[in-house]
Amino acid sequence: MEHLNAEDIINYVTLDAMNEDTMVFCKHVNGHIRGCATCLGKLRKYLDIHDMYQVQNPGGDFKTFVSEQLQEEYVLSLDIE
Ligand SMILES: [Zn+2]
Repeated sequence: MEHLNAEDIINYVTLDAMNEDTMVFCKHVNGHIRGCATCLGKLRKYLDIHDMYQVQNPGGDFKTFVSEQLQEEYVLSLDIE
């Protein structure tokens, strides 16, 4: 089973609309994290970062923020398997 990548997790954390595509995507992510503590842990960390970001930057673009921060140690550390 392939792990979720950072992009999948970021997309999941920032989902704002439900349609057929996002439903399939959510099922895929939910199905995976149910059986994978590694990805569940990553998802939780990204959710925390997302919540903090939203408090500090209401209405800000989280995806852009995360992309810029991907070089930072704390985000890189999320990719350790
Ligand atoms: Zn996984």
